[in-house]
Amino acid sequence: MAKALDSFLEENLKLLKDQGLYNEIDVIDGANGPVIEISGKRLINLSSNNYLGLATNPLLKEAAKRAVDQYGVGAGAVRTINGTLDLHQQLEEKIAEFKGTEAAISYQSGFNCNMAAISAVMGKDDCILSDQLNHASIIDGCRLSKAKIVAYTHSDMDDLRKKAKEAAESGHYRKIMVITDGVFSMDGDLAKLPDIVEIAKEFDLITYVDDAHGSGVTGNGRGTVKHFGLEKDIDFQMGTLSKAIGVVGGYVAGKKALIEWLKVRSRPFLFSTAVPPGDVAATIAAIDMLMQSSERTEKLWENGNYFKEGLKRLGFNIGNSETPITPCIIGDEKLTQRFAKRLLEEGVYAKAIVYPTVPKGTGRIRNMPTASHTKEMLDEALAIYEKVGRELLGV
Ligand code: PMP
Repeated sequence: MAKALDSFLEENLKLLKDQGLYNEIDVIDGANGPVIEISGKRLINLSSNNYLGLATNPLLKEAAKRAVDQYGVGAGAVRTINGTLDLHQQLEEKIAEFKGTEAAISYQSGFNCNMAAISAVMGKDDCILSDQLNHASIIDGCRLSKAKIVAYTHSDMDDLRKKAKEAAESGHYRKIMVITDGVFSMDGDLAKLPDIVEIAKEFDLITYVDDAHGSGVTGNGRGTVKHFGLEKDIDFQMGTLSKAIGVVGGYVAGKKALIEWLKVRSRPFLFSTAVPPGDVAATIAAIDMLMQSSERTEKLWENGNYFKEGLKRLGFNIGNSETPITPCIIGDEKLTQRFAKRLLEEGVYAKAIVYPTVPKGTGRIRNMPTASHTKEMLDEALAIYEKVGRELLGV
């Protein structure tokens, strides 16, 4: 190994460990369901984004197996050479129908979808107004585009309006985009899309919503844009197929011309091999299921509300979530880490989220009750919260 690399790694790995920012990776034995096993220990899983339990759904598994038998395990090429199977086309038609748009494009992940789509449209003569709490993949996509990035205070519409006006009146930019998460994953709050659309209309802003945590959850399962009835007003409805949908992939749904442009210009679509057929078939089955019935989404909300009420009753601060995402705000970083460790020892797997992912002093446990938890599992988790809360916080 080059000496420069050797000393870089040694120094920086030590630094991360000293700062408590080194991520240990937990390995799950078996499937990522409502109850998991880690190193032989049974744990109630409150950390998964498998919101509707579809990652282990038998119908999706069957669809994947059938597609593997018919098509094999790989797509064989990038989409623009000969990696586009009829399944990819079906999936994109399905996504457009699900999202109420003219067309859609799918990618290998939500992360590379943001990298791809933002940089395909925005460039060095443009400006992007980005919510301060947007996801890392949005931040990286914006950086890749080389556009001027202006962060606005989280969901502060006065700040957005002020910055949109400044950008529009400066005359420096050919295009201006406003970009936001639909659901903010650390607090569970919704973007103020009706206000954002109003500001966008006033200043001719391109609108981009990353609804990774909204699809399958908000708007009766159709997402946050649908929740607000703004399908006609949002240019980019971006989302992931890896959370509520349960599989893998990302997408943008929007007008035909936009999707056509992304298909010829977004680099991961042109230069990275297409999603394998088994995954695509499982995704089609998942979206079909969501279009036929909102039963799973309703169950998710029922469980979310049950768990939230339970934590509130025990005296915990659960913040201002508007979705089933349930933060339990502890505050101090070290105490939050200790809380998560005690939950784990007692049988609850829920991750501590601390600075820099969330602001200093707002350390929290992020809980994700899903549609596949039973009331008994949630009660068991609440009893453990009660025990650890009494021990560490005196609640
Ligand atoms: N956007 C947001 C808001 C996300 O939370 C995530 C996943 N953490 C992504 C994009 C990336 O999606 P994927 O995991 O499918 O790459």
